[in-house]
Amino acid sequence: MADKASRLAPYLPAIYARLMEPQRQKLDLIATCDCGAVRLTLDGPVLAMLQCSCENCQKVSGGGHSSVVLVPADTATLSGDTKSYTRPAASGADFTRHFCAACGTTALAQSSRAPDVAIIPAGLLAGQNAWFAPNQLIFAGSLPDWDQIDSALPRYTAYRPEKQL
Ligand SMILES: [Zn+2]
Ligand SMILES: [Zn+2]
Repeated sequence: MADKASRLAPYLPAIYARLMEPQRQKLDLIATCDCGAVRLTLDGPVLAMLQCSCENCQKVSGGGHSSVVLVPADTATLSGDTKSYTRPAASGADFTRHFCAACGTTALAQSSRAPDVAIIPAGLLAGQNAWFAPNQLIFAGSLPDWDQIDSALPRYTAYRPEKQL
């Protein structure tokens, strides 16, 4: 089958499309927020998987980094009552988090730089995320010493060069 990432690539800024290394995972799962009021359905390929230790991710995740899965936005469906919050990303893009209005769990995020991509917290898929295999750590410059991340992973001080979210 034609890889979804390849088909999307022409529509994305070239700088961003290169982030999309083809992955074998095809997701078909349903996840819910902590309280169960918000449901996320994923039905499509994984575009990328990464760890991010920027300070925003630390605040939102409550840990030293976040673990995220990038998927085509049209393969991620949110239902239930959500709120959203938009902040400027270090790249200059607008970064928007959508979270459960009742319990606050982040269900999905998006960058204005790549509106065709949905950013999903791997932890939202708790119990069904054993396949998660990040291939890079971004914003390693702010990774706290107490947070241990596989030292074999490529590390980038901020964004991976030419692959800004
Ligand atoms: Zn909830
Ligand atoms: Zn981050």
